[in-house]
Amino acid sequence: CSQSATPDLPNCNVGTIGHVDHGKTTLTAAITRVLQKTGQSSFVSYDQIDKAPEEKKRGITINTAHISYSSTLRHYAHTDCPGHADYIKNMISGASQMDGAILVVAANDGQMPQTREHLLLTRQIGVKKLVVYINKADLVDEDVLELVELEVRELLDHFGFDEDSTPFITGSALLALQGDQSPYGEPSVLRLVAAMDDYLETPSRCLDSPFLLPIDNYFNVPGRGSVVTGTLVQGVVRKGDNAELLGYDKQLKAVASSLQVFKKNVSRVEAGENVGILLRGIRMEILERGMVLCAFGSQNLINRFEATMYLMTKAEGGRSRPITSAYIQQLFCQTWNVACRIDLSKGAKMMMPGDHETVEVTLLEKMVLLPSQSFTVRENNVTIATGIITKILP
Ligand code: GDP
Ligand code: MG
Repeated sequence: CSQSATPDLPNCNVGTIGHVDHGKTTLTAAITRVLQKTGQSSFVSYDQIDKAPEEKKRGITINTAHISYSSTLRHYAHTDCPGHADYIKNMISGASQMDGAILVVAANDGQMPQTREHLLLTRQIGVKKLVVYINKADLVDEDVLELVELEVRELLDHFGFDEDSTPFITGSALLALQGDQSPYGEPSVLRLVAAMDDYLETPSRCLDSPFLLPIDNYFNVPGRGSVVTGTLVQGVVRKGDNAELLGYDKQLKAVASSLQVFKKNVSRVEAGENVGILLRGIRMEILERGMVLCAFGSQNLINRFEATMYLMTKAEGGRSRPITSAYIQQLFCQTWNVACRIDLSKGAKMMMPGDHETVEVTLLEKMVLLPSQSFTVRENNVTIATGIITKILP
């Protein structure tokens, strides 16, 4: 769950995705220009967005522009990347957590390879909903627009998005940026923002999930048990709830005997809060940072999964040589690290630095793992790869 920069509005993280030159940056600039009129954004020019500063996230260099605007309902934190490689790294490394995406497809081109690749990754990082902006409508006839929409709806279905309910907006980002008042101009941007408000979801839903607390720290309370601390990532815990401690091959039943927030006893804690939970009768010796405390029966211990992994280049601080199957290293995820073996997909002989591929990962010890979680792999304390869990394997 994220906090809003506009305190009275819920925050929603979004980003433009789509093939190079389809108009992602032009649309991003147009949104800020149109919403500036009502004081809901400050105009950020195309050039300012496109020379996004280099950022080092998890050791990788990624160029991303962070743009901010509001509708009447929400605050939007919007990312736009200048290059295709930046999108890949941004999504695989989990650098910007997207709640929803804006897919931009140029009508004169239709869907292209990067459209498909971004859709696949968007799905893999756990984004379930997106809105589509069919751009460059000024360049084509009406019947072409219809064909492109049909084609993109089919593509959405292929990647597991709801092809029927996904909103499509047709317009011209360039006309909107120039202040044009025809339907493809400024009004198309207002239609887009309305569709985002209506269709994309804010992350508040995480209160409905069974609770999950990755353990940051723990200490002994003589005569009573142990207190585990951390930030609750999802759900609600009530005093007396049945819970389970999982991680490093261990699985133990526990009870949330008492709850504390800022050293005050409370009867209920919810996602986003930093909590201390007393587990009566649990000995400190069995606890380890990186274990998870969760609602009883809600999680399993896992040690094999499929992932999309990006192998960093030498210039990014990574390896100069490729890796081959049965590559053994240390995997870092949230607050824990465990030895792992990485196997390339069947038939692949090697993976080169700068490539991203599907790999199969086996952990030496079983942990709690969730699809869409990101991880890094380090060699002698240097990050050489980042990845995202796409599928839990039996
Ligand atoms: P990106 O690579 O997806 O960020 O694409 P850009 O926003 O950089 O746009 C690529 C090119 O398409 C630029 O020259 C834009 O001026 C142009 N462009 C963007 N939107 C439109 C549009 O609606 N109509 C026309 N005719 N050109 C557009
Ligand atoms: Mg761009």
